[in-house]
Amino acid sequence: STQEQPPQICVVGSGPAGFYTAQHLLKHHPQAHVDIYEKQLVPFGLVRFGVAPDHPEVKNVINTFTQTARSARCAFRGNVVVGRDVAVPELQTAYHAVVLSYGAEDHRALEIPGEELPGVFSARAFVGWYNGLPENRELAPDLSCDTAVILGQGNVALDVARILLTPPEHLEKTDITEAALGVLRQSQVKTVWIVGRRGPLQVAFTIKVPRPRKRLTELLLRTAIEKPGPEEAARQALASRAWGLRFFRSPQQVLSSPDGQRAAGIRLAVTRLEGVGEAARAVPTGDTEDLPCGLVLSSVGYKSCPIDPSVPFDPKLGVIPNMEGRVVDVPGLYCSGWVKRGPTGVIATTMTDSFATSQMLLQDLKAGLLPRGPRPGYAAIEALLSSRGVRPVSFSDWEKLDAEEVSRGKGAGKPREKLLDPQEMLRLLGR
Ligand code: FAD
Repeated sequence: STQEQPPQICVVGSGPAGFYTAQHLLKHHPQAHVDIYEKQLVPFGLVRFGVAPDHPEVKNVINTFTQTARSARCAFRGNVVVGRDVAVPELQTAYHAVVLSYGAEDHRALEIPGEELPGVFSARAFVGWYNGLPENRELAPDLSCDTAVILGQGNVALDVARILLTPPEHLEKTDITEAALGVLRQSQVKTVWIVGRRGPLQVAFTIKVPRPRKRLTELLLRTAIEKPGPEEAARQALASRAWGLRFFRSPQQVLSSPDGQRAAGIRLAVTRLEGVGEAARAVPTGDTEDLPCGLVLSSVGYKSCPIDPSVPFDPKLGVIPNMEGRVVDVPGLYCSGWVKRGPTGVIATTMTDSFATSQMLLQDLKAGLLPRGPRPGYAAIEALLSSRGVRPVSFSDWEKLDAEEVSRGKGAGKPREKLLDPQEMLRLLGR
């Protein structure tokens, strides 16, 4: 039959990709219903757990996401790990279409000796720690050393460097966790090196447009080559903390302290460029340089993981193989965000690609390529989850936790004090 059913659509992941996909679907299909599944108890993905605490304006997108979540045709289903609590084929049976927007949950390893030494962390874990990601709340990095080395020169590396170098009193009015603030107040780190394999022209900071990029390069070179004027020299002499970029260096080995108990430095292979333009590759020259440091943060990229054996995955590119958001060879399955494109790009990039995925889905729906009969949607999944002892949380549950966080932050003048312990969150919800 051609009888029209309100499409039941399921989105996996409540970061920018999940919310922008849902927003577009709801706006352009007046009957569509969208359920957003999320493994955390709280929504918003990297907007909450990635974006630096001293960039609060970036988090304003949460207001738009909240409007979407409050729509009568949208529901947030937190505390559900897709791939563990419910399988993707189960979702496909319950819904007319499934969109995977589960981001990039892992980090790329350095794959060098000494990587496992205490004092070496992924930037991802470090960011998760200061932003209150439950799984990283015990990280307790030791900041009693005077030099930290960050491997990688992307936006995340810059965020991490800034958090290490900013006087803690400037972070006191942000939503950084009280625990992280306590550790940063005791920090002895005076110097931060940001190390990259390639040169100033290839840095991975967000500026991709040639003009500002050229200006950035000129600024970098001027700062590197020109002698500072007397005022600037005086200011630099007084500064208690310093940072620098080291180019054409690739990590070779983390060096340990004499007792072998922790990181004490890093051996860098000196590189030079082979090839031109964006394709230029860094190759080792054979020379090495040892940098003493007590803290090594590897910021060489986030990485998506396969979610379910039934979903195709490209381990080399770390993405779900797709054509403009349609998962290859699996009708009715779509993807958006970092798991579609790879872990690069700002929230605006993620928005554009999520709208594009939604567009494809709506096209397929219109063309009759999705199942036509009624689908049970959440009713079927709720029964499955309940039989497995999984109890999802709703958006109004999040609004209770949100109010609690805001009220805990008030005394200290912070926008919120994040709840870190899922058990405590569940207790606050009366579970
Ligand atoms: P995510 O935001 O990671 O969302 C994925 C969601 O899926 C998460 O909530 C996750 O918990 C959930 N999930 C994962 N697995 C499962 C599962 N099995 N079942 C259910 N749910 C699951 N962009 C800017 O514009 N400005 C910035 O200042 C900025 N700062 C950044 C700082 C850092 C440290 C990082 C890492 C990124 C930053 N970005 C910034 C980029 C921005 O965060 C990304 O573009 C965007 O978050 C990607 O969206 P996403 O939805 O694909 O992934």
